[in-house]
Amino acid sequence: MIDALRDAGRIAVLTGAGISTASGIPDFRGPQGVWTKDPAAEAMFDIDEYVASREVRVATWKHRLAVPAWTAEPNAGHLALVELERQGRLTGLMTQNVDGLHQKAGSSPELVHELHGTVWYVDCLQCDRQIPLADVLPRLESGDEDPVCEVCGGILKSATVSFGQSLDRTVLERAAAATAEAEVFLAVGTSLQVYPAAGLCDLALKAGKPLIIVNAQATPYDEEATAVVRTPIETTLPDLVTRP
Ligand code: ZN
Repeated sequence: MIDALRDAGRIAVLTGAGISTASGIPDFRGPQGVWTKDPAAEAMFDIDEYVASREVRVATWKHRLAVPAWTAEPNAGHLALVELERQGRLTGLMTQNVDGLHQKAGSSPELVHELHGTVWYVDCLQCDRQIPLADVLPRLESGDEDPVCEVCGGILKSATVSFGQSLDRTVLERAAAATAEAEVFLAVGTSLQVYPAAGLCDLALKAGKPLIIVNAQATPYDEEATAVVRTPIETTLPDLVTRP
């Protein structure tokens, strides 16, 4: 059961919104989720709506500014995964989160594979230039509600993956490689309903690796998992990564 994790030399980890809720960042589909409370907010995460409507872009930037990612601090769950890396047991840390808290906690950027992008960078949808959010933030704060690219005038968008956008191929390849390299696959704080992120579990299962799930709610993979843990992530993970 959980011993499969404690005994494993090499572990691949997938994290979702559940690991960051203890840091004050709301999830999307949970009881207090962004989309649960305001279904219209889902339009802000659709690339076609974003490109077509200035109104949606203005609302999205306002939402971004209000999101506590800028001031949020990593919690014991993030720190436990830093410890796993320090022990030399982490093959890769795949995350569906865009908050950058794994890196802020101290996980090596080269081991963190951000499947859905990051809020810390901004993309120009026209010339593909990527700029740090820190360069755009002052413009937003000084009243530019829909900032455009200073080079080409194109639409700017947070470097996160919206509905209708494909995931970064290189990131996906690295995630698959980290999964292949591991003895055990650990899924933390993710409902495992979004693909291709959830498909990493299939990769692990097909290769006969134990799948350990730590999540408050049921997931479609619970039956195939070697162990399912429902206790809070920020207390569970530090315990799990500490060898007895
Ligand atoms: Zn541009």
